[in-house]
Amino acid sequence: MLKRIFLGLLLVLMALVAAVAVKTWRTPSQQLAVAPVPKIEIDVQAAAKRLAGAIPIRTVSSLDDPAGNLAEFDKLHAYLAQQFPKLHATLKKEVVGQRALLYTWTGTDPATKPIALMAHQDMVPIAPGTEKAWTVDPFAGEIKDGYVWGRGTLDNKGNLFAQMEAIELLITSGFKPRQTVYLVMGDDEEVSGLRGGLPIAELLKSRNVRLDWVLDEGLLILDGVLPGLSKPAALIGLAEKGYGTFFLSLDTAPGHSSMPPQRSAIGSMSAALARLEATPMPGAIQGVAAQMFGALAPEMGGVNRVMLSNLWLTEPLVRGQLEKSPSSNAMLRTTTALTIVRAGNKDNVLPGRAEAAVNFRILPGDTIDSVEAHLRKALGNDEIKIKRYPGNSEPSPVSPTDSTGYRAIQQAVRQSFPDVVVAPGLMTAATDSRHFSLVSDAVYRFSPFRMKSEDLARFHGTNERVAISNYGEMIGFYHQLLRNTNAAPAQ
Ligand SMILES: [Zn+2]
Repeated sequence: MLKRIFLGLLLVLMALVAAVAVKTWRTPSQQLAVAPVPKIEIDVQAAAKRLAGAIPIRTVSSLDDPAGNLAEFDKLHAYLAQQFPKLHATLKKEVVGQRALLYTWTGTDPATKPIALMAHQDMVPIAPGTEKAWTVDPFAGEIKDGYVWGRGTLDNKGNLFAQMEAIELLITSGFKPRQTVYLVMGDDEEVSGLRGGLPIAELLKSRNVRLDWVLDEGLLILDGVLPGLSKPAALIGLAEKGYGTFFLSLDTAPGHSSMPPQRSAIGSMSAALARLEATPMPGAIQGVAAQMFGALAPEMGGVNRVMLSNLWLTEPLVRGQLEKSPSSNAMLRTTTALTIVRAGNKDNVLPGRAEAAVNFRILPGDTIDSVEAHLRKALGNDEIKIKRYPGNSEPSPVSPTDSTGYRAIQQAVRQSFPDVVVAPGLMTAATDSRHFSLVSDAVYRFSPFRMKSEDLARFHGTNERVAISNYGEMIGFYHQLLRNTNAAPAQ
């Protein structure tokens, strides 16, 4: 009897091992095979100088003072017109809202749907107190050690200038796009995009424009960041998470601290916040995260490949690992972050009010309503009042991977960065592209910057810079992408 049970178990185990092995080694690569393309002649040093020349133009956007910095944006517009004369002679330029730019490059085939490339003109300021940590002056536009340094090189003048360089080259070579190409360049992306990106999307909608696809800034080419993957991975953002801040308040009778009640405003609010933090919203490897791992698993080696190829068996284990790191945890669930807590102002007075703020980043599939329902339940205290921040936004729709746009981007990445694999991904930050679901079902978020782990902090941070060699590849990428739109898409 025991022997039969043992034999049975052994058979089950062998079947399981066989199934895991088959799933691991027979799952085919999803990478698009591309033929090598002729190298494009780019004077990358001259291009780097043009980018560096824009860094001293301080196009910092502000939520509170929208008109405070318009002269800098005017300077940038004049600089662009001067540096890219053919583009400005060929494309129609419109200024939308205050200083947002919409360029139209009319296509030769009016029957095709237009496309849009996006990049924003504005940037974030230098965080006070961090100026000294820079190895260069962040606004000097210095070229040093093979990099263009300064605020805005990555976010997002690098993309904006690379797109213009590519178009200037294409015009020079006599290229005419089949599909109309829009360039969308917001002036307030860092502070919501409500004055720049959104009005441009609304303007296009009012003109009955429906975009075949849209490419905005977004996820990056990550090199050595994803465990188990030896090749760099270009992640193309299919969606971005929503934003949900809720303000909490709890009123109780104020009083003297010599005769405290059993539960104070501070105690009750703290207990509720502790319950909330201990009750995260459910997480799973599904949706875009599952698509991402599905595309990356066949490119991985060793145990990572086995684990990710067999999520039918390993999901709880893999999820447990991913949840340990804040960046991968954010791909699996709507995250909860306690950001403000405020109560009391004198050591011997019981405050009558305790306040707090909670910021959720909402996964596609959840909504502001479903998050608020979770919040109420998790707080477990009906006396806490909840107010929504007016700037909350729902998660974006999820763009498809079987569209011409995704294929065109994937193809251009594989042609321009032959060492790189491509996978879909989820943006956990917000970009102007979210406004473009008004005019397109296929909105993608990808910036062709090669980034190592230590480089990620340069975004909005100190020592922001782009390698000149990478900048040349970026120009090549946009050049190739636009050329691909005139050819039949790769299958
Ligand atoms: Zn940006």
